[in-house]
Amino acid sequence: MWKLSGKAVYKGIVMGPVAVLKKDGQQVKRIKITDAEAELARLQKAGEKAQSQLQKLYDKAVKEVGEASAAIFEVHQMMLEDEDYLDAIHNMIRTEMVNAEYAAAVTGDNFSEMFAGMDDDYMKARAADVLDISNRLVRNLMGQEEIDFASMEPSVIVADDLSPSETVQMDKEKILAFVTVHGSTNSHTAILARMMNIPALIGVPVNLDEIQTGMKAVVNGFKGEVIFEPSEELCQEAERQICEEKEKLQLLQSLKGKENRTLDGHTIHIFANIGSVSDVGYVLENDAGGIGLFRSEFLYLGRDDFPSEEEQFTAYKQVVQTMAGKKVIIRTLDIGADKKVDYFNLGNEDNPAMGYRAIRICLKQPDIFKTQLRALLRAAVFGNLSIMYPMITSVEEVRKIYGIVEEVKKELEAAGIPYKTPEQGIMIETPASVMISDELAELVDFFSIGTNDLTQYTLAIDRQNEKLDDFYNPHHKAILRMIEMVTQNAHKAGKWAGICGELGADPELTETFVRMGIDELSVAPSMILKLRKTVREMRVAEE
Ligand code: PEP
Ligand code: MG
Repeated sequence: MWKLSGKAVYKGIVMGPVAVLKKDGQQVKRIKITDAEAELARLQKAGEKAQSQLQKLYDKAVKEVGEASAAIFEVHQMMLEDEDYLDAIHNMIRTEMVNAEYAAAVTGDNFSEMFAGMDDDYMKARAADVLDISNRLVRNLMGQEEIDFASMEPSVIVADDLSPSETVQMDKEKILAFVTVHGSTNSHTAILARMMNIPALIGVPVNLDEIQTGMKAVVNGFKGEVIFEPSEELCQEAERQICEEKEKLQLLQSLKGKENRTLDGHTIHIFANIGSVSDVGYVLENDAGGIGLFRSEFLYLGRDDFPSEEEQFTAYKQVVQTMAGKKVIIRTLDIGADKKVDYFNLGNEDNPAMGYRAIRICLKQPDIFKTQLRALLRAAVFGNLSIMYPMITSVEEVRKIYGIVEEVKKELEAAGIPYKTPEQGIMIETPASVMISDELAELVDFFSIGTNDLTQYTLAIDRQNEKLDDFYNPHHKAILRMIEMVTQNAHKAGKWAGICGELGADPELTETFVRMGIDELSVAPSMILKLRKTVREMRVAEE
């Protein structure tokens, strides 16, 4: 038994088997060999295994997402048989007398660079694929098993780090907890963990080579610790705590159907944040008044090409229909920074959080934006949908957005496609938008304050940088004053203001926000009833 500590990003306690997720890009060592033929035979076996893994993935994908989306696995199978690619690996093994892992990794990098430098967009996109197949070969050569989510029992995922696109692709039913070596508390992976109600610990100094899939672990998000191979006594203690937590949650259930009304009669809206259509289940389960932030960019992650208008329309329509008249605020894509997508070809940036992201991509590449807007305007016919634009810094940006929305409306009109113009609001997550919130309030229907980015940009702290977690203080006076100023400016123009950043779910600040006059808090579904309890037990008038 051994215990390790980390930072909890979602409090909860679970016990179950471990699944170790070793990632691509692992250190591949260059090792001198003496028998090239034996090395080639190892490579051959790894290749055969890769073919059968890809065949299984193809068959699964055909059933779940259809033939068109599954085709990528066929492409990978073909690439694995490509003569130029294989010759390059064979040649390196024979001439340099190096191990197959090293030859496959270097060849993968070389081919990927070559594809990335081509003019043809299709060939450019193959850069990620060749890296993917090379990583698969390396994993097979190293004897590392992939996690098979389909047959896995619910497990504690232990990994070096997780990106939002990896997290979003995981089967949520199969995850008991996340334990990672790296990661920051403000990252989107942490946000996803909170959204999925999954206890998560980051910054845990775990040596992945010492942990085996199948080992037992207790993850305690309250104490910020994970215990591998716990003693019988500790297992019993964990079971007792798990029951206690369940009982507390059950008590909160009695608040379902009740209003978010203070003892002196002031009500606010408590909405939910979601990242996918399947999260709507949690929203209903926790009795949210609506959806205050649908991070639509998650529809774009973990795939090889843009989601089509139809695909997006179906997703948005399903959400608004399921919410049956309750407000659903869908944020247009906020790709960029930590949410990387290969097919956007964003390129490397020194400072991605301050770079080409969110509304900037939409204004520069209006075709991408228009596809999403068409889907949103069409879905608005089916329920109470609002659109929200991220990363706004100026009045001009809002005017440009409105111009594009008008074009989309004309196009839909001309094609005789039914649509509705929804309410349009903006996220307040840059200091610039705070300072001109009086002018912006005249232009938009509502504000939703994104405290995650607002804190990052105001305090000049990269929210992804785990070294700065101790400096990242969203309770900073500057942030609280900004929230108050934005709320007052919204109200002066007769508009409403909410908070959809993680700070909105901080129970220590609920009373402060209600007293400031915040109209809405949009939080992870698991926090809704907890906040309702606080609101129902407070008075606006301070005693
Ligand atoms: C925010 O910045 O507070 C926000 C809600 O957006 P995201 O966390 O997705 O950047
Ligand atoms: Mg943001």
